[in-house]
Amino acid sequence: MSSSQAVTPNIKRVGNRLVVSHLQHGWLDAMGVEVPWIVSETMVTDKRAVASPAASPVVSGESNRAAKTAAPVVSAPAVTEPAAPATVGSIDLSRIDLSSVDLVQLSQTVQACERCGLCEGRQQAVPGDGVTNPSILIVGEAPGEQEDSQGKPFVGRSGQLLANMMAAIGHGRDTSVFITNVVKCRPPANRNPRDEEIAACAPFLARQIELLAPQAILAMGRFAAHALLNTDSPLQQLRQTTHAIDVAGRSLPVVVTYHPAYLLRRPVDKRLAWEDLKRIKALVALP
Ligand code: SF4
Repeated sequence: MSSSQAVTPNIKRVGNRLVVSHLQHGWLDAMGVEVPWIVSETMVTDKRAVASPAASPVVSGESNRAAKTAAPVVSAPAVTEPAAPATVGSIDLSRIDLSSVDLVQLSQTVQACERCGLCEGRQQAVPGDGVTNPSILIVGEAPGEQEDSQGKPFVGRSGQLLANMMAAIGHGRDTSVFITNVVKCRPPANRNPRDEEIAACAPFLARQIELLAPQAILAMGRFAAHALLNTDSPLQQLRQTTHAIDVAGRSLPVVVTYHPAYLLRRPVDKRLAWEDLKRIKALVALP
């Protein structure tokens, strides 16, 4: 593996190249911005030609709010197709311009998405669930069997535990929380999501963060933490501090904690998760 050096929390230098996280590449992708000198971690070996830039303005806070209140649009947004098909394995890496997409359109686009192979085994995609002006955005790993069946994230025992955890700090998905996952479709047999699947889905998560504009993000489990923070550090280490990511010109705090499915298997670590919950509670206003 080539040696890397951190430039910022979300950008690393590998050789003479700057490498951004899946999510940061997703933000650029979602905004319709191509930055040839920055490549995502899974695209370091991608030799495809870079199309000419078609920059769109970064979504401001004002336009975020306008997008939230926009009337639902029935038609799905147009997807920008490259001049020539670009694929890695089964992954379509064609650019998708989400810069003018609101939450309703984003959900429609996710439901119809075939950007990675996870579309083949899903009953339905799971874009997310909760209020559209959340205090806390919860990011998990991937839908499971019940989520795939019901089209909602965190249902079943994990969902009940998550609801209890949120209630303990005065929050809930009906009042002040939005819940989503790093990948929106269920991996076969609940296997871990792969790097290329996380990269393919990153523009959706990036655009959700912009549109939802939460006060803080709770990353549950290592896949969410690694995707958001562009690191492969152990979860236990990432839990020790409050992180920050830049979103549309503002710094957004990120707290890392255990995934509820892990806590169901290892209840003794709930006391550690409680410390994380207290930290994020202090960062946001009560509903
Ligand atoms: Fe599309 Fe994401 Fe589903 Fe892959 S996981 S098909 S990128 S919505």
